[in-house]
Amino acid sequence: MWRYFLPTKMLSGEGVLKKEKDNLFKSNSAAFIVTGRNSARACGALDDLYSIFKEKGIDSVLFDSVEENPSFDTIRKATKLARSENCDFVVAIGGGSPMDAAKAIAVLAKNSSLGVEDLYDSSKYNAALPLIAIPTTSGTGSEVTQYSVLTDDEGNKRGFGSTVIFPKVAVLDPVYTVTMNEHVTVATALDALSHSVEGEILNDGVNLFVKTLSKEATSIIRKTLPKAVLDLNNVEYRKSLHYAATLAGIVIAHTGTTVVHASGYPLSSSKRIKHGIANSMFMVDVLEKIGEENLEKVINGIEPFASLEELREFYDRFGIYDIKVEMTDDELESWTKKSFAAKHNKRTPGSFSESFYRTLYEKVREY
Ligand code: NAP
Ligand code: ZN
Repeated sequence: MWRYFLPTKMLSGEGVLKKEKDNLFKSNSAAFIVTGRNSARACGALDDLYSIFKEKGIDSVLFDSVEENPSFDTIRKATKLARSENCDFVVAIGGGSPMDAAKAIAVLAKNSSLGVEDLYDSSKYNAALPLIAIPTTSGTGSEVTQYSVLTDDEGNKRGFGSTVIFPKVAVLDPVYTVTMNEHVTVATALDALSHSVEGEILNDGVNLFVKTLSKEATSIIRKTLPKAVLDLNNVEYRKSLHYAATLAGIVIAHTGTTVVHASGYPLSSSKRIKHGIANSMFMVDVLEKIGEENLEKVINGIEPFASLEELREFYDRFGIYDIKVEMTDDELESWTKKSFAAKHNKRTPGSFSESFYRTLYEKVREY
């Protein structure tokens, strides 16, 4: 048995925001815009939005200080502003961080008695302000998922999920991604690869939509990323990577992610290693472990990579195995315990002991 559910409308193509402005926006409404510090302006999306708003008489308030791995405090600040401004809808422009922050703000602005911890009990809310997501990275797929990953007051990355936070519309314009530098391009594309592979490991061919989307997303990233890093202004490559990231987002919307994501989280929240890079550092080790019990599942999950060796070589091209991380003994122990306790552990096939995670972190430790 399988199910396929995606309530997000997708609009894709160069210049699509302006072309679809009459379908996207109602005159005389009020928008709450959520972005990071620079990229929404630098990529041109914010200016495009403002010129449409001016033409249609739409009021807006801008919250432009979402950081990478958005914190509870950022959500609290933005929520306070959103509640005081009485906006009708939310627009997120940016990578996964602004999009995930916007999802949290959309729930809290609609449900004025809730605090940020309440987001983690989805029985406490059944509506959010409508969200238009404009991704400017090609990675998280957050524009088509029901997830949001925030960093709590103790510095732990924690995801919540609810169907009410699926964006109403995803506006997919590859031109907005051209300003990404090489490092962000690689990190985000490898996150999308991680979603595609981890999702299919969990799906194992059962949901035929998921299998098809995963194979296509993995294939595009495998073929395109090595060329894209050599030609960052090439819009055709950008278009392919943007499409692949959205496909991989649809994959995880149906499957969730594995212990690869859970093990990578501490490296992002404590050591500022980009999310997609952190996943990639552990991917092959985790797949090898799964393969000890079920190699066929792994071979299916990484398709069209022909072998784990080919996947390892792919990561190696981007320097993933050169990365070493300074960590104290206490950090190593606490990350090990957190990864072992994460809910991803139960859903990932194979047996992952506490010592497995300790070995993962020791392997990347800077001595
Ligand atoms: P990000 O944290 O949103 O942004 C990373 C960096 O890229 C920021 O410095 C950002 O600058 C910059 N950037 C974004 N777009 C750019 C552009 N077009 N040109 C130049 N620079 C640009 O990165 P991300 O990898 O997309 O998102 C990672 C977050 O998403 C993590 O918190 C992760 O846990 C989460 N995530 C969510 C899901 C989900 O389903 N919801 C799935 C996977 C990951 P600015 O700060 O100036 O914008
Ligand atoms: Zn991810």
